[in-house]
Amino acid sequence: MLPAYITHSDCAKHEMGINHPECPERLGAINDMLLTKGLLDYMSPHDAPLATLEQLAHAHSSRYVGELMAASPAEGYCKVDPDTDMNPHTLTAALRAAGAAVLATELVLAGDAPSAFCCVRPPGHHATRAAAMGFCFFNNVAVGIRHALTHHGIERVALIDFDVHHGNGSEDIFRGDERVLMCSIFEQGIYPFTGDDATGPNMVNVGLPSRSGGAAFRNAVGSHWLPALETFRPEMIYISAGFDGHRDDDMGNIGLLEADYEWVTQQIMAVAAKHSQGRVISCLEGGYMLSPLARSVAAHVRVLIGCD
Ligand SMILES: [Zn+2]
Repeated sequence: MLPAYITHSDCAKHEMGINHPECPERLGAINDMLLTKGLLDYMSPHDAPLATLEQLAHAHSSRYVGELMAASPAEGYCKVDPDTDMNPHTLTAALRAAGAAVLATELVLAGDAPSAFCCVRPPGHHATRAAAMGFCFFNNVAVGIRHALTHHGIERVALIDFDVHHGNGSEDIFRGDERVLMCSIFEQGIYPFTGDDATGPNMVNVGLPSRSGGAAFRNAVGSHWLPALETFRPEMIYISAGFDGHRDDDMGNIGLLEADYEWVTQQIMAVAAKHSQGRVISCLEGGYMLSPLARSVAAHVRVLIGCD
């Protein structure tokens, strides 16, 4: 029984114009790195299915889903947000990205995979219940989490978000949903300029000043995330795995390194081993400089699949 590696070639057909940082090449860079590191030998590959309307409705309003489907262009681009565009393939890619999280949930809860990495785009954590934004259309992890809660009798899920940007969409969807504990660490003062306000007991959002570095990041995990997770005892853990906090990624300026992503994944896996039967599902979010992105994902996945 191998950890699942879920992706789809359709996810590379979505693009938002030349020089857009959320580019199709991100997936190829990750795939190449996992391949050359030999990590894919230890994973079971799966094609991401299309999320269904019923699955999307757990996290998004049906009006929003309908509007997004109607906006899908036959050619060219349709702008849905100042930096978020649809091309003719975007809708299919977004449905597969959300569907990947659902398939990961099914595989892990059926005992067919101990853990899963969803190598998908578009990312999801800025997508709110009723709006696309920040390169995101459907909130992939949220769709997966709500699927587990709704159809599998799971009662407590932790969502861990270490993307350098605050996951405002996930917060919007899970605010007040006490079945979900969201733990995030993000850089203060950058897009989407949220996360600093306390929005409820199920939100453990920690903003760090720019140039905080890995030691401050690890301190925040130890002093904020781990005690909350210990109390919450999640039955499953989902990760919004964004790697744009890497020192070499100019989307953020928090100064993390591959070793920090490796370390935080070790902390998450230890919580999962204790409380969650090891059940961890990681979905790709940000990370825009191809080389540090691929290296960071490899460091993360190596721990996720138990090869460390
Ligand atoms: Zn990000």
